[in-house]
Amino acid sequence: MEQKKGAILILSGPSGCGKSTLLKEVYKDIDDYYFSISTTTREMRVGEEHGVDYYFVSKEEFEKDISEGNFLEYANVHGNYYGTSLKPIMKALHEGKLVIFDIDVQGHKIVCKKLNEVITSVFITTPSLKVLETRLKNRQTDSIEVIEKRILNAKEEIKSFSKYDYLIINDDLKEASKQLVSIAHAARVKSKISEESIIEDWLSN
Ligand code: ADP
Ligand code: 5GP
Repeated sequence: MEQKKGAILILSGPSGCGKSTLLKEVYKDIDDYYFSISTTTREMRVGEEHGVDYYFVSKEEFEKDISEGNFLEYANVHGNYYGTSLKPIMKALHEGKLVIFDIDVQGHKIVCKKLNEVITSVFITTPSLKVLETRLKNRQTDSIEVIEKRILNAKEEIKSFSKYDYLIINDDLKEASKQLVSIAHAARVKSKISEESIIEDWLSN
C-alpha cells in the first residue's frame, strides 16, 4: 500500500511577534493540518487552555518525559522547558498531514537534524524591536521582568532568521496572513519532491 507523506512547517520568531495570532488567522485557509501542541513548564496565561495552547506540566513531569525519550526536541526558553512530543508528530506525518510547529530557533535546528521529512521553515518578526516591546506590553500577559527576558532573547533569536526558508514581517496582519497561507501551500507542493512513486507513476502513465 502506498504510504502517504506528510510535510512539516516550522514557525519561529521572538515571543510577541504574533505567531499564535497569525496561526489562528490562517487555519481556515489550510487543509489537513496538525498543529503540534507543545509541552511546557511555564505558567498558564489568562485565556490559555491545557491541551489547546500547551500541555502545562511541572518541571518533574517534564524531566521524566526527557528521561523516557518522549520528546522529538526540547529546549530551555526564557528559563522554562518547552518540548515537542514525538508520537503524535509521527502519527500525523504518517497520515499525510501538514504538521505545523511553533518552536524556537534551538528547536528548529534539532528538528532539521532529526527528521528526514521535507521541512519548510518561516521566521516571523515585527518591523522593529520597539514594536515587539509594545506588543509584549499590550498583550498584558507577562510581568515586566518576563518581558525584559523575552526582549533580551529576541535580540539573539533575530540573528538566526537567515537559516529559515522564508521571512515574514508581521506588520499588517492581513498581509502577513496571506503570506503565511502561500507558504503553507508551498510546503505541501515541496513535500511531493520526496515521493518515491513520482517517477514510476510518470513513466507508466
Ligand atoms: P506570539 O505567539 O508570537 O508570542 P502573539 O500572537 O501572542 O505572539 O501576539 C502578541 C501580541 O501582538 C498580541 O496581543 C496580538 O494581538 C498582537 N499582534 C499580533 N499580530 C499583530 C499585528 N500584525 N499588528 C498588531 N498587533 C498584533
Ligand atoms: P511562549 O511562552 O511565548 O508561548 O513561547 C516562548 C517561545 O517558546 C516561543 O519562541 C515559542 O516558539 C517557543 N516554543 C514553544 N513550544 C516549543 C517547543 O515545543 N519547543 C521549542 N524548542 N520551543 C518552543
